[in-house]
Amino acid sequence: MKQDIHPAYTDVKVTCACGNAFVTRSTYEKDNLHIEVCSKCHPFYTGKQKIVDTAGRVDRFRQKYGMKGKGKAEDKSKS
Ligand SMILES: [Zn+2]
Repeated sequence: MKQDIHPAYTDVKVTCACGNAFVTRSTYEKDNLHIEVCSKCHPFYTGKQKIVDTAGRVDRFRQKYGMKGKGKAEDKSKS
């Protein structure tokens, strides 16, 4: 390989929001990489249908738009 033209390719510890952690190699500059979904919790690999909300994104969306729980039940009483 040519010198000084390649990025550093080092071990990186990847930590998923589900708690799974593994080590891979990457040119990523930091030692720790946080991800939201991995092969341990993604529905494709688990075979389960579920909302992938391990990082609390659905809750944050509901708070942002003032929604509480599953909004469909509320609509009947209002109209
Ligand atoms: Zn995961």
